[in-house]
Amino acid sequence: MGDEDLKPLPEDWDSALAIVAHPDDMEYGASAAVARWTAQGKTVSYLLVTRGEAGIDTMPPEETIRVRAAEQRAACDAVGVTTLEYLEHPDGTIHDIMQLRRDVAAAVRRHRPDVVLTGSPRDFFPNGMYNMADHRVVGYAVLDGVRDAANRWVFSDLTGPDGEVLEPWDGVRFTALSGSTEPSHAVEVTDSIEAGIASLRAHQAYLAALDWHPDPEQMIRSFADEVAPRFGGVPAIAFEVIGLQD
Ligand SMILES: [Zn+2]
Repeated sequence: MGDEDLKPLPEDWDSALAIVAHPDDMEYGASAAVARWTAQGKTVSYLLVTRGEAGIDTMPPEETIRVRAAEQRAACDAVGVTTLEYLEHPDGTIHDIMQLRRDVAAAVRRHRPDVVLTGSPRDFFPNGMYNMADHRVVGYAVLDGVRDAANRWVFSDLTGPDGEVLEPWDGVRFTALSGSTEPSHAVEVTDSIEAGIASLRAHQAYLAALDWHPDPEQMIRSFADEVAPRFGGVPAIAFEVIGLQD
């Protein structure tokens, strides 16, 4: 991270749609910000691109889907998220980019959010770890799909659950990427970090299968403490904000 101060992420909005690759992707910091926003009365909905069926080495995919759906539901409950939807792209090998952009555009036209959240598509995480293929693919498809959703001549055949044509939606003010090496904004999580930690802890079976995984409390607090020096000394979650006009 650089030395410049991060700006406060604007909070004058009502609804956000988070679109991420896997169950648990929101729970590595972003959900602590989500808990703050739902406590403010905002609505945050989640759309997961896969069921995370390839995420537990010791468990067959069919069983993993069931276990992780319950864990993700509990993770959402911990941070005040009611709406949880899934697409059916394959975990680990998301590849149908045009279908994914269609799916993102359809979701944005249906939910009509003010803000979209996703994970960073950049090659590396702030800790130097190489980012995963699904995250890179989804991050770009979300940025592109938000633009597609606003263009009536792109994916103009998209329909809603009752067969109705979905109208374009150009009301997304910005897309915020979590886990970016180039953050621009941050959200203070002093009062919501506990909920964020609880949401990661909810992925019990998933975490139990990863023997290298740090304790959720230690991990989320260290993320927030790393951002603090660039955000007035308070624990915070950083985002790279794309598309904000200021
Ligand atoms: Zn993931």
